[in-house]
Amino acid sequence: MNRTVSFPELDYQQSCMDEIRQMAERPSTYHIVTYGCQMNAHDSEKLAGMLQAMGLTEAPVRDDADFVLFNTCCVRDNAERRALGNVTWLKEVRKKHPRLMIGVCGCMVQEPGMAEKIVKQYGFVDLAFGTAVMHRFPELFLRALREDHVVIETGGEDLVVEGMPACRLRREQAYISIMQGCNNFCSFCIVPYVRGRERSRRMDDILQEATALRDAGCQEIMLLGQNVNSYGKGLGEGDFPELLRRLDRVGIPRIRFMTSHPKDLSDELISVMGSAEHVLPQFHLPVQSGDDEILRRMNRHYDVARYLDRVQRLRSSVPGIGLTTDLIVGFPGEREEQFQHTLDLVDQVGYDSAFTFIYSPRTGTAAAAMPDQVPASVSSERIQRLIALQEKRQREEMLRFIGTEEEVLVEGLSRRSSDEVSGRGRHGVSVTFAGSEKDIGKIIPVQIDGVKQNTLSGVRKES
Ligand code: SF4
Repeated sequence: MNRTVSFPELDYQQSCMDEIRQMAERPSTYHIVTYGCQMNAHDSEKLAGMLQAMGLTEAPVRDDADFVLFNTCCVRDNAERRALGNVTWLKEVRKKHPRLMIGVCGCMVQEPGMAEKIVKQYGFVDLAFGTAVMHRFPELFLRALREDHVVIETGGEDLVVEGMPACRLRREQAYISIMQGCNNFCSFCIVPYVRGRERSRRMDDILQEATALRDAGCQEIMLLGQNVNSYGKGLGEGDFPELLRRLDRVGIPRIRFMTSHPKDLSDELISVMGSAEHVLPQFHLPVQSGDDEILRRMNRHYDVARYLDRVQRLRSSVPGIGLTTDLIVGFPGEREEQFQHTLDLVDQVGYDSAFTFIYSPRTGTAAAAMPDQVPASVSSERIQRLIALQEKRQREEMLRFIGTEEEVLVEGLSRRSSDEVSGRGRHGVSVTFAGSEKDIGKIIPVQIDGVKQNTLSGVRKES
């Protein structure tokens, strides 16, 4: 059973926030730099909520802030290197701005050995803390203000913390974290080591949050979890399909979720996808490889036949569903014919988009110790072929939208023209059409008449 605590009940954190707010000598502005996934983006919203409760205001530009916090990701080596590079660069900024405070948090800090590395090599950092102690940020921030050495905290129990203040980026779109952690231990992945074991939020807490968002005018919620398909295990309150059914009744126009594990994608979930009014016809289903032997060594617990069966059932239940995936190239020992199986699968499925990655060894994971690491030159050549095929298949798949109507939730002005707006259709694909700032946040029906690379274009339909 998960242990749930409520933020207002964490009296000590509340008193730290009050104390910081009243301090004369404290940073007055903050800037958060976020790396990685939506989970991190949502954590940054909570960190911003706490900073604002402590009286700080956001500085839009990093170099103008009195406190810069890097919310890091360690899923891939390059994300980690980028974060550390930027932290180092701030050391220079501090020469001009001596009162600048620097914080590092998120998955990277939780990595084995990282705390020691920060003390040794990044001693100019004021504060570093892992994901498991994020709810103790006010206390740690107060200590960093008082102490003249780096404050580091990485331990922590796997808790569910309710009621943390959050400063949401948008009114019309909101993240709702439904669970945290992961029990799967895919052999390439560091997440279970840095985010802890799976723990689900209570269903009533999620429904309450969704209801409040609906009442505030939210148009779309994105449910977040490392493996949302296993939501509710050990909770005894219902599973993910049940959660979706109950959220559907709340009446928020659009419900999305990510990420799903193919091994846990049940027939019941597929059936809910076909019947729920507000659950969007889109599914992110990471396959990682199209070769059974590689999938076995990745510890994924499904084979290609099972994966294709899930795809076929999803497409029968939700015709035209938007499918996306994640793919890893150059997993240890991957031979050319095994990579070819991945190409075959990508060709066969026809994804609307795919996140493609070169395998990156993460210390402490099973795959990092496997023999036959694939040379970088081979992986680079393979990923180019994979991207070329995916782009071709994506263009072909996009053609199915021509002549159809997509309801688009407008997210902003298009990057190409200030006379155009862009947003996502119900199937998850970007759509641009003529519009202006006043359309942002609205759901607008658009007749699709063109495909430009990976986006659709169209004209607004008169309502
Ligand atoms: S399911 Fe696998 S890839 Fe996804 S977070 Fe868990 S261990 Fe990582």
